[in-house]
Amino acid sequence: MERMIATEKEEHKSLRENVRDFVKKKVEPICIKMDEEDMFPIGLFKEMGKMGYLGVTIPEEYGGSGMDYLSQGIIEEEIGYSSASLALSYGAHSNLCLDSLFRNGSSMQREEYVPKLSSGQWIGSLGLTEPSSGSDALAMKTNATKNGDSFTINGSKTLITNAPYSDFFLTYAKTGDNYTAFAILSTDEGFSRGKKFNKMGMRGSPTGEIYFQNLKIKEDRIVGKPGGAKDIILSGLNIERIILSFIFVGIARRALEESLKYSIERKQFGQHLYEFEMIQDKLATMYTKYETARIMAYESLSRVQEDKMDALHAASAILYAAEISEQVSREAIQIHGGYGYVKDSGIERLLRDAILGQIGAGTTEIRKHIISGALVKQFKDNPRILE
Ligand SMILES: Cc1cc2nc3c(=O)[nH]c(=O)nc-3n(C[C@H](O)[C@H](O)[C@H](O)COP(=O)(O)OP(=O)(O)OC[C@H]3O[C@@H](n4cnc5c(N)ncnc54)[C@H](O)[C@@H]3O)c2cc1C
Repeated sequence: MERMIATEKEEHKSLRENVRDFVKKKVEPICIKMDEEDMFPIGLFKEMGKMGYLGVTIPEEYGGSGMDYLSQGIIEEEIGYSSASLALSYGAHSNLCLDSLFRNGSSMQREEYVPKLSSGQWIGSLGLTEPSSGSDALAMKTNATKNGDSFTINGSKTLITNAPYSDFFLTYAKTGDNYTAFAILSTDEGFSRGKKFNKMGMRGSPTGEIYFQNLKIKEDRIVGKPGGAKDIILSGLNIERIILSFIFVGIARRALEESLKYSIERKQFGQHLYEFEMIQDKLATMYTKYETARIMAYESLSRVQEDKMDALHAASAILYAAEISEQVSREAIQIHGGYGYVKDSGIERLLRDAILGQIGAGTTEIRKHIISGALVKQFKDNPRILE
């Protein structure tokens, strides 16, 4: 198997410093409040548009920064280090919705919608999950029927990131035997929002339901080809998994850094915590898992950059990053003792946020199904695939 790893150029290093500075000044001071009050910082989110983060992968002529997916991964990691929930909302807007709209949208959609989403004038969501279809996404019930040059959409989507605030939804509906992607605006007649969910983690990233009741739109709202949504869904899921894996790399980095700091500061029995062999074991294991997850995320991202993205690498990058961010956050609580269990420490939040990693963007079980399926297929074709 050919291996590749993205290397950061000067522009990436300077972007990382720029985002780090933004996070330190604007996100870090409110990250605990966001969690405690389940508060979405809408003004700050829109400011991320002005900073060029929301439209980072979009060409400048459409209001973006004209950078690459590595840049988007860097933004995810740096925001995720401070607030995984803000990083989740960022990922849903910038990658799942905006980047996919740009890749698949018509010139009208690129001109009308993309600049508004890049600047933060509009907030965006991707609507795939429905009350009766989650992992089995293609069993969706939302349907669109064609009448002349219009479509009438009926159905609903649930667990949608940013939905309580979004102006724009990239969503999917059954059109006969196949599926079509549509651009829906919150101002469309027949659109309504349901409740905002009260979640265990990722608090501050608003998650909600949306409904389409006899929602009529013209066919210029079709994103991509009529009946062509299956490819958009599947390729979107691969990129989404890779980009979102950086949130969990960010969580693991924060958990490890806080644990190193605390084990250097804190003394018990006249010794620093890091002098106890059992704490050394934890730190070493946490580091090794974090570093491996980071390498896997970079490796899979390189494949996107080189146009060689595949489901095997995308699913395994997020599978591992999500699993280890939970393990590393759990150990961080243990290293911090009772203080780690207290909300003000910000440590227990890392674990609650990390758990989403095994559910969103396809669950751990679905990722394992994809990975084993791809491995068996590739191994049958070439038994030396693992070398
Ligand atoms: C905070 C949050 C944000 C989200 N944001 C979005 C968003 O922006 N847009 C969007 O469209 N969706 C979003 N989702 C939905 C998310 O993608 C789904 O929750 C996820 O795909 C799982 O679907 P489900 O919840 O219906 O679980 P189900 O599919 O019902 O699965 C239940 C359990 O059964 C397992 N299972 C299902 N099928 C199999 C199988 N074949 N083999 C083995 N095990 C199986 C699952 O792994 C899981 O453990 C979000 C969810 C959350 C919690």
